[in-house]
Amino acid sequence: MAEISLQNVNKVYQEGEFTTTALKELSLSVEKGEFIAIIGPSGSGKSTFLSIAGALLKATSGQVIIDGVDIASISEKELSKVRLSKIGFILQTSNLLPYLPVIDQLLVVKKMAGKVVTADRDFAQELLNDIGLGNKMKKYPHQLSGGERQRTAIARAFMNNPSIILADEPTANLDTKRAHEVVSLIAKEVKARHKAAIMVTHDERMLSYCDRVYRMEDGILTEE
Ligand code: ADP
Repeated sequence: MAEISLQNVNKVYQEGEFTTTALKELSLSVEKGEFIAIIGPSGSGKSTFLSIAGALLKATSGQVIIDGVDIASISEKELSKVRLSKIGFILQTSNLLPYLPVIDQLLVVKKMAGKVVTADRDFAQELLNDIGLGNKMKKYPHQLSGGERQRTAIARAFMNNPSIILADEPTANLDTKRAHEVVSLIAKEVKARHKAAIMVTHDERMLSYCDRVYRMEDGILTEE
């Protein structure tokens, strides 16, 4: 079964008398270990799609199933649990907390979900080693390069062992070399840890790391 599956999803925004149909009959399934890219111009519906896939926003119609759970059928409280435990977000900027060292940027995710135990610390170290930050665990964000900050954010996204990784233009603020580093690391971790991953990007150079590429245009998603 797919880790995430959207079937005939429509999203209509209503503002007074104006309606905007941001997604039209969108269907997409992503399996464990698959890394999918979505490209498309500004205003085509990519952010709306990510918000719905990340259980931040409900679809107007259609079905969204995240790790076996139909998210239309659950309460707000259960929905936030799904977000916390099933989904790892990687955003354009790393959004690190300035007063915490790298290792604690990961552990703070665990703190939000409960208590930090030794196994969590070990897992955070394993992730940071994997991502090439084994020697930077005690550094603060201002002591890191942009690429290193974004790599910390990648490790953080994996910290709760989510089933799904959603990346929103993760290379927007990086030079070419660092962009390749970051996306290749996402791809490597997605494969190694059997996650279903979706990346929205403007950056066509990053598509070679992905298994499938979709284009969004006026709310319609089609495979390239
Ligand atoms: P993208 O991420 O590709 O730039 P969006 O998903 O942000 O596209 O937007 C898709 C369409 O939906 C656009 O026409 C946008 O103006 C509209 N839209 C997005 N968010 C809202 C909102 N909260 N209320 C009304 N319209 C919105």
